[in-house]
Amino acid sequence: MKRKDSKMKRIIALLLIAAVSSMLCACGGRMQKARDAMEDKEYIGLISAMDNEIDMLIDEADIDHVDTIGGVEYHVGTLCGQNVVIAKSGIGMVLSASVATTLLNGHKVSKVIFTGIAGGTGDKTKVLDEVIGDRYVEHDYGTVTDEGFKWTYGNTGEEVGDKGYFYSDPELADLAYESAVDVVGKDNVHRGTIASGNQFITSGDYADRLEQDFEAIACEMEGAAIAEVCTQYKTPFVVIRAMSDKADGKAHESFDNFGDTAADNSSRIVMEMLNNM
Ligand code: SAH
Repeated sequence: MKRKDSKMKRIIALLLIAAVSSMLCACGGRMQKARDAMEDKEYIGLISAMDNEIDMLIDEADIDHVDTIGGVEYHVGTLCGQNVVIAKSGIGMVLSASVATTLLNGHKVSKVIFTGIAGGTGDKTKVLDEVIGDRYVEHDYGTVTDEGFKWTYGNTGEEVGDKGYFYSDPELADLAYESAVDVVGKDNVHRGTIASGNQFITSGDYADRLEQDFEAIACEMEGAAIAEVCTQYKTPFVVIRAMSDKADGKAHESFDNFGDTAADNSSRIVMEMLNNM
């Protein structure tokens, strides 16, 4: 009887430990946020889509710990004198929105900076130029009709119009612009609209349309998703993109040749920004 009792107690204790640890896991983000609040610690969230866009930042940072959530590593530490959380989202609108949301829920994040590479649209940008996003749009959001694709809300037929644009925090965009000028020189830095979608653009015609329809000067696959999430969370953000290609017929080749250098330039601009904050 006694042995049965103690066995029972052990089982209950084990069950309790299991329940508490699963609660701790589920509440990990909230607990980190509470800890940050107690320490009055705020972070700058740094997100990229690919390894070559984020490696330099992780290498240069002093990482305190890594939280792995949904298979994504959130590197928590300091970089250039600022508290940072650095994460690689993976390519595309879904993964980048998901990582931005997790980052904003899990930590007290005061600003988000997305850094990476993109295709230049229109005549303004050349390969290896930098684009600082002022405005963002999802170019492939809409309805497919017999007359072709239309940029509309769901099945309403209503043009997305002004509601489809998201805007960087002006102060953060100014800082990004000034930092980019310091790193790559004024002639190589532009500000304007970034068009995003779940498509790698390697068509000169489509790139021209992005410029005509949206006044886009760059196209990529994450910026507007980050912009939409950060706008919902009322968190200042900016997207910094170096042109790896011109989104034309030669985009893949150019992406392969210039992607790494472009990605490093954008990372350097982020570090310059952090130093200047
Ligand atoms: N050839 C690569 C393509 C990766 S997707 C592969 O198959 O793995 C391209 C990534 O770089 C995205 O994260 C996107 O944001 C950016 N990008 C660079 N040039 C682009 C372009 N021309 N069109 C769309 N995204 C581009």
